[in-house]
Amino acid sequence: MLRNTIKFACSRYGLLGVRRHIASLSALSETHQMLQKTCRDFADNELKPIAAKIDREHLYPKEQIEKMGELGLMGLVVPEENGGTGLDYLAYAIAMEEISRGCASAGVIMSVNNSLYLGPLLQWGNDKQKQDFVQPFTLGERVGCFALSEPGNGSDAGAASTTAVLKGDKYVLNGTKAWITNGYEAEAAVVFATTNKELKHKGISAFIVPKDLPGFSLGKKEDKLGIRGSSTCYLIFEDCEIPKENIIGETGYGFKIAMKTLDAGRIGIASQALGIAQASLECAVDYATKRTAFGKPIAKLQSIQSKIADMSLRIETSRLLTWRAAWLKDQGQSYTKEAAMAKLAASEAATFCSHQAIQVLGGMGYVSDMPAERHYRDARITEIYEGTSEIQRLVIAGAVFKELS
Ligand SMILES: Cc1cc2nc3c(=O)[nH]c(=O)nc-3n(C[C@H](O)[C@H](O)[C@H](O)COP(=O)(O)OP(=O)(O)OC[C@H]3O[C@@H](n4cnc5c(N)ncnc54)[C@H](O)[C@@H]3O)c2cc1C
Repeated sequence: MLRNTIKFACSRYGLLGVRRHIASLSALSETHQMLQKTCRDFADNELKPIAAKIDREHLYPKEQIEKMGELGLMGLVVPEENGGTGLDYLAYAIAMEEISRGCASAGVIMSVNNSLYLGPLLQWGNDKQKQDFVQPFTLGERVGCFALSEPGNGSDAGAASTTAVLKGDKYVLNGTKAWITNGYEAEAAVVFATTNKELKHKGISAFIVPKDLPGFSLGKKEDKLGIRGSSTCYLIFEDCEIPKENIIGETGYGFKIAMKTLDAGRIGIASQALGIAQASLECAVDYATKRTAFGKPIAKLQSIQSKIADMSLRIETSRLLTWRAAWLKDQGQSYTKEAAMAKLAASEAATFCSHQAIQVLGGMGYVSDMPAERHYRDARITEIYEGTSEIQRLVIAGAVFKELS
């Protein structure tokens, strides 16, 4: 699907013109550069114009997500035989950054569908689960969600208290999942519940749960600081019966599925953070060249230049870390530490850059006429979900001690 889009982009812009543009970009492969340009154009033309409105009004960007589905972005790493685009994780990181540069809400909707929902089903789901719950979720018309956190436990995910009890040919789910992104729109959820409490995290299993089952309801939509175009809510299970065959992988394998899924998810969130950081930098540079103070553009002031240099440095170092983590995943190598480093660096870069952008804009940075304050609010969540910065540091330190002792 995306390949068709890329072919279309070639004919639209003229192959020669596209090649010239590509040559100026980077050392990425031609496919990756085409994807980057397609997503960049889409972000500029379709996402940037609606980002402020969906933020202000808490609107899910349905039309834009469907167009992203048409571009092949909602099942980017899903093999073509399962209805996806069949690209690699580096492609996913590149696309996620560009989409989030246009709209961080669209970015997280895309990220949750790709890495948290489709990811575990692709890796551990059986053929029937892939047919029913992967293929229809690659087109942008339907999205999925991932339900691990609970009101009583977030970082300590192994302490899940939602239960799944086998009764005949059904599992009966009881419990509440908290903070679930895409919860309001999702047609299905990957849900983690304990099948054996005594075994603690080794007793957790993963299930695919379609929406509209009796006993499955939603809590209120959270009123959030940022990424307000994506919904976040509780999923409530009260004697909710699901077919026995909806277990993903083996009984008791759920915690491993969750942790491995989050490793990959962190590459997506690192890329989302990069997009927010890059948007902040572009906003600051644009303003600094236009705004004059003391008879010259503020871009000529050394203190402003130093902010731009520091922002740019943090973005480029985080991008290298993020692309390295994606590349390692694509090579089938271990990437847990690298994904944690990428997410930690990129999320802190997003917070730093959006903070600096407000400073460069002065008063205009503080009001919603300009996007800087939205980037500042959007950036904050990247240091919290899919493992807080404190948890990333634990993951990194654990890996380093293992490597060096
Ligand atoms: C907008 C939003 C969307 C989300 N989307 C999803 C989703 O789709 N699916 C999902 O399952 N979850 C989702 N979450 C939940 C998110 O992953 C958790 O909020 C996050 O993991 C932190 O858990 P917590 O909020 O329970 O904080 P806590 O775990 O209670 O942590 C509170 C503080 O203590 C620190 N802390 C905790 N343990 C340690 C430790 N061992 N060492 C050092 N510091 C520690 C934390 O870093 C943090 O600073 C979302 C959250 C938000 C806000």
